[in-house]
Amino acid sequence: MSDKLLVIGESRDGELRNVTFEAIAAAKKIKSDAEIVGIICGNQNLQNQGQEMIYYGADRIVTVQHDNLKTYTSEGYGQALMAVINEENPAGIVMGHTAIGKDLTPKLASKLESGLISDAVDIEHNNDELIFTRPIYSGKAFEKKVITSGIILATIRPNNIPILEKDETRSGDIQSKDVDITEIRTIIKDVVRKASEGVDLSEANVIIAGGRGVKSEDGFKPLYELADLLGGAVGASRGACDAEYCDYSLQIGQTGKVVTPDLYIAVGISGAIQHLAGMSNSKIIVAINKDPEANIFNVADYGIVGDLFEVVPQLTDEIKKA
Ligand code: FAD
Repeated sequence: MSDKLLVIGESRDGELRNVTFEAIAAAKKIKSDAEIVGIICGNQNLQNQGQEMIYYGADRIVTVQHDNLKTYTSEGYGQALMAVINEENPAGIVMGHTAIGKDLTPKLASKLESGLISDAVDIEHNNDELIFTRPIYSGKAFEKKVITSGIILATIRPNNIPILEKDETRSGDIQSKDVDITEIRTIIKDVVRKASEGVDLSEANVIIAGGRGVKSEDGFKPLYELADLLGGAVGASRGACDAEYCDYSLQIGQTGKVVTPDLYIAVGISGAIQHLAGMSNSKIIVAINKDPEANIFNVADYGIVGDLFEVVPQLTDEIKKA
């Protein structure tokens, strides 16, 4: 194996996402003495992001700055990354299993004619084998996979691989690379975000998720209050999204976001298999449901059988007192 692993940094509004640091830790798990080279594409704040990656374990950084990289497109980022990958010739590439990671890495795999291990939650060594663990069948089982030849290309599920301790004494080279990204068919001019976006759902440590039992858009307000108190984010079942109580960007599950927070509180959610696919690997699951037979209790660590309109405000009051 060459001694170099690339980690693709992912940022939002010029700030690195936490999963970037988890990807650095994952690269260290792949080969502890490898040179970790971070790649950052974008149009602003790349130097600072590079420095942050170094603090969290990267040895060297390559940045590609271009106005057409302001917002992610698979074509633009694909061109920038392939230029760096061809020059660096790494043994492996790691990034987060985020919307961007899911879109980008199959493209890289096809260009590199490599395999791809997506959504890894753990990486271990057994004799000479490098083994990736990933969930299958909507999280009901785990499979262990090895890459037998070619470049190691992997995405890691956010919130699973602990980041390395930040060390602000670390230093490393930050080089910029010029790549011509004018020959692309899609250029995103602007992205208008919803005003209410707070903590990023896919990286939140605490999620309060509401279901159809919440009954209305107003019914979500106590969930936001509880989430704010705990520094968390609000999510939802598809039932709640379909009923227009909240936006589809909050949907968790098989056809929504996959999350693994430290604490997941399911409020008025029945626990359909498609919902469990997105949250059953959360570290602690609390379910609040008035139906003691609800399927959500089968995956919950703690269950409260009761009316959510009484339980959630009580819970919020008790936490405020603590
Ligand atoms: P319900 O099943 O209606 O459950 C509401 C719950 O609230 C009930 O358990 C009820 O007891 C409880 N409740 C009601 N009032 C109160 C109260 N006052 N206090 C306490 N509890 C109360 N679903 C997802 O979530 N995510 C997905 O990604 C997803 N993808 C899908 C993909 C496909 C192809 C299909 C077919 C379905 C998918 N679904 C998905 C839908 C899924 O099958 C369920 O229909 C959905 O999860 C149900 O949402 P819910 O639990 O909020 O609603």
